Amino acid sequence: MTDTGKKRILIVEDDPSNLKLFRDILQYKGYEILEATEGREGVVMAKAGLPDLILMDIQLPVMNGIEATRRIKEDEATRDIKVVALTANAMEGDKERMLKAGCHDYIAKPVHVTEFLERIAGYFAGREPAGKES
Ligand code: MN
Repeated sequence: MTDTGKKRILIVEDDPSNLKLFRDILQYKGYEILEATEGREGVVMAKAGLPDLILMDIQLPVMNGIEATRRIKEDEATRDIKVVALTANAMEGDKERMLKAGCHDYIAKPVHVTEFLERIAGYFAGREPAGKES
């Protein structure tokens, strides 16, 4: 968290239109945004920027979101940061792999904007994921 009290969110997303949507609505809500467009950059940005929350796409170039999350969770400097997976039509096995890698929750894409923002606010309010399903 910065000294202005703004919450900082790292978005790791390779799809430009998704990235723009997430950035726009989160910035509008007053969050400070960091961005990465592939998994390895996401790991580096997590360590350099120490965000309060990470939104992690799963299908990413260079390093996928599962592996990136695993690395973030292995590093003492970043392991306490909540990572929320962003995923298109996840299969049961994918969800298990995400949670096993250390993801706190997952959000299905495409997102419903109002629900998406409520979920994000909920993570900061310490509310537990509601049954892991939106
Ligand atoms: Mn992707």
